[in-house]
Amino acid sequence: MIPTKAYAAQSATTPLAPFSLDRRPIGDNDVQIEILYCGVCHSDIHQVRNEWGGSTYPMVPGHEIVGRIVNVGKAVSRFNVGDLAGVGCFVDSCRTCENCKEGLQQYCDGGMVGTYNGKEKGTGAPTYGGYSTQIVVDENYTLKVSDKLPLEGVAPLLCAGITTYSPLRHVKVGKGHKVAVLGLGGLGHMAVKFAKAFGAEVTMLSTSPSKREDAQRLGADHFALITDEEQMKGLKNSFDFIMNTVSVKHDYSIYLNLLRTNGTMIVVGIPPTPSEVPAFNLIAKRRSIIGSLIGGIPETQEMLDFCAEHNIVSDVEVISIDKINEAYERMLKADVRYRFVIDIASLK
Ligand code: NAP
Ligand code: ZN
Ligand code: ZN
Repeated sequence: MIPTKAYAAQSATTPLAPFSLDRRPIGDNDVQIEILYCGVCHSDIHQVRNEWGGSTYPMVPGHEIVGRIVNVGKAVSRFNVGDLAGVGCFVDSCRTCENCKEGLQQYCDGGMVGTYNGKEKGTGAPTYGGYSTQIVVDENYTLKVSDKLPLEGVAPLLCAGITTYSPLRHVKVGKGHKVAVLGLGGLGHMAVKFAKAFGAEVTMLSTSPSKREDAQRLGADHFALITDEEQMKGLKNSFDFIMNTVSVKHDYSIYLNLLRTNGTMIVVGIPPTPSEVPAFNLIAKRRSIIGSLIGGIPETQEMLDFCAEHNIVSDVEVISIDKINEAYERMLKADVRYRFVIDIASLK
């Protein structure tokens, strides 16, 4: 067993606090990663507070992990001790269903094994995430990380990055498309960067007037306040795509009305309570809504390589682990610029 320091929630209503756990001894196909940075995703808050149901405790969140490999199992072929590595939202899947075979492990028919709040295949042991000093993961669920980019900015790519990259690629966003990004947080700021990198004209839709300049610095061509009725009226029927990253309950119909004929709303935000979808807002202009969940291993690697080539990282605020509960409170107030990342050295 590998003794590991971590931060955990003991229940849905208690703050995160220091916790100790043992990682499994490395198996033949495993790598042991000494974690350097871990991003803080809004999904961490939803799960810690059991907002989606089914949370198990103690819970060690964290699925935006980068670190250095310190040990490899004897059958490991793709990694060496000393390599940088990344781990995202899942650490295993059935490997035999159609989705797994196609590299879409996030849609595994048997259910992917979450990096935390999941159960290991075989042993059924709880999985613990990246707010910790070490992790042991099968090499097939581990990503290669370039040494060209600042590591703290790479960590959020493992969730916020792939979650926005994957659907934009799926719908083939490119030159000539008008894309709106709803919500300028962790996912939203990566969506702006990718949509821009793919050649689209990007509009940021935000509740926060103070984020206007940042939106433009991040690459957005336009910025609109969703609380400003006049501005919203002017944007009716104008977008090909809206990437919806909002984490709280909101009215879809307001944003559906901003889509032009054949326009698509891409839902990635996961509010705990459902939103209504009025049929009229869809049929009026043959609009559609699609959802998208993170991305599979091959596409996550493709996204990391794309970022290394195009110098794309997340804009981060690095925090020590003892500031994690404060960071959650700030995210709930939309006060995040634009991803909190934990410096895991503060846990040692
Ligand atoms: P985040 O950093 O907290 O950002 C959410 C943003 O939503 C806020 O910064 C805010 O931006 C905006 N917002 C807040 N209240 C709003 C309201 N009432 N109306 C409109 N916009 C509002 O969160 P995140 O980490 O990006 O995650 C966003 C959501 O995506 C969460 O629900 C998370 O669980 C989910 N998620 C899904 C996947 C997936 O695979 N589909 C992956 C990761 C996360 P402004 O200040 O600009 O308004
Ligand atoms: Zn996430
Ligand atoms: Zn599967």
